[in-house]
Amino acid sequence: MIDDIMQRLGVSPDAYRNGNLAVTTPIDGSVIGRVHSASASEVEAQIAAAEVAFLAWREVPAPRRGELVRLFGEQLRTHKQDLGALVTWECGKILQEGLGEVQEMIDICDLAVGQSRQLFGLTIASERPGHHMRESWHPLGPVGLITAFNFPVAPWAWNAALALVCGNSLLWKPSEKTPLTALACQALLERAMAAFGDDAPAQLSQVIIGERETGEQLVDDARVALVSATGSTRMGREVGPRVAARFGRSILELGGNNAMILAPSADLDMATRAILFSAVGTAGQRCTTLRRLIVHESIKAEVITRLKKAYAGVSIGNPLEGQLVGPLIDQQAFDAMQGVLAKARDQGAKVFGGERQLAEQYANGYYVSPAIVEVDAQDELVRHETFAPILYVMSYRELDEAIALNNDVPQGLSSCIFTTDVREAESFVSDVGSDCGIANVNIGPSGAEIGGAFGGEKETGGGRESGSDVWKSYMRRQTNTVNYSRELPLAQGIKFD
Ligand code: NAD
Repeated sequence: MIDDIMQRLGVSPDAYRNGNLAVTTPIDGSVIGRVHSASASEVEAQIAAAEVAFLAWREVPAPRRGELVRLFGEQLRTHKQDLGALVTWECGKILQEGLGEVQEMIDICDLAVGQSRQLFGLTIASERPGHHMRESWHPLGPVGLITAFNFPVAPWAWNAALALVCGNSLLWKPSEKTPLTALACQALLERAMAAFGDDAPAQLSQVIIGERETGEQLVDDARVALVSATGSTRMGREVGPRVAARFGRSILELGGNNAMILAPSADLDMATRAILFSAVGTAGQRCTTLRRLIVHESIKAEVITRLKKAYAGVSIGNPLEGQLVGPLIDQQAFDAMQGVLAKARDQGAKVFGGERQLAEQYANGYYVSPAIVEVDAQDELVRHETFAPILYVMSYRELDEAIALNNDVPQGLSSCIFTTDVREAESFVSDVGSDCGIANVNIGPSGAEIGGAFGGEKETGGGRESGSDVWKSYMRRQTNTVNYSRELPLAQGIKFD
């Protein structure tokens, strides 16, 4: 099965059959590939090649660079089914979500193609006669991309599509848990490059497989102009200061602890569906997963009854076979979830669900029923991101109190309110409302569209990716003052003669 998919995606068997790093599927824990983990000297050579590729690529006009991304988007359209299925095999999310991830890649390619004709600066009024000023944008350099297991392809594409049209070369270190999808994306991009022609330099995009040390090599190398890293806050805490120490640039997309405020006026049918998708989807392994439900005390009992009913109807099992919830990534994730639920019980919380499922069928696959945990207060357990389907439920009386709870966690990625009261809705997205990078009304916290800037505040890292004016992060800003007069006046009226 994997061999057929890899063949159609254009990955040579040598690339994933005989390496030193085993790749397992969370579906049943079996080995589905063996990839080659790069040595330090190989990484060094790849970084050097990326620099050479950058020098050539930056000379290709931006709209022509956009043409490469357009061709890549076509490859993705043709191979959406296979790449989506590979995402499911490798990280365990259900096929619908695997396909959704590939669609997100296609969408960002479309956006980047248009952007390639819109890398515009400003003209600025000069205070001096016979002068004009402008701001222009130039390619930046090799871009290092470090990605997480739970979204193995879309965040790479958000960065890669924009970085390419902006004139940069790419070095991608995927999660060591999901290298096959990276090899597949690289193969599709190489097909697009072959169709594009000779002006795409050979090493324009490279995959570097390895663990944390490999990532560290990218992080510490001054030739890598920008490091865009997606993963845990622990990782970002290490990466951020190291890149800053060499005055490099970073985009950090780290952990989330996303909340929904559920107000008394809310449409509870809609809210229940939104909670189900955002708390249970991807088995709770999205950075934007709903982890905290802050519900008005007057409707709490009814909401919990509805949720328990909805949770009981969720099908759990093989993500390739039409279930709603697939497995956790591995045993470590399962143990972490069980540890947190045990602590919550010790602290007196009411726990519903959370048990292991299908253990007899899949001895090495870690399936769980999603858990609802009723807590009295937002303690340390709730404030920590546990990467599993655990929904903490707490109540509030006044909206101010609910917004304070929404904000009183170290992370600041996504948030939402369900209400039909326009005052409450507008307060939530106002200056004194949610402190997150994403704040939604009558939509759950997960499932962003690529048109907006994606990312979060505080321990989520402050980075933004995808749409809006994010392309500027992949370029070097330059201010130009041009004197077309025969005089040399100084700014601020300074006389120097
Ligand atoms: P992780 O931090 O364990 O690993 C992420 C990547 O960082 C991997 O490629 C890993 O090899 C690399 N890495 C780890 N330590 C490093 C270091 N010191 N230097 C350089 N590279 C290093 O994360 P994970 O378990 O793969 O993913 C889950 C986490 O990612 C969750 O916390 C989730 O919220 C977060 N996430 C955030 C976003 C977002 O956009 N904000 C998106 C997806 C996932």
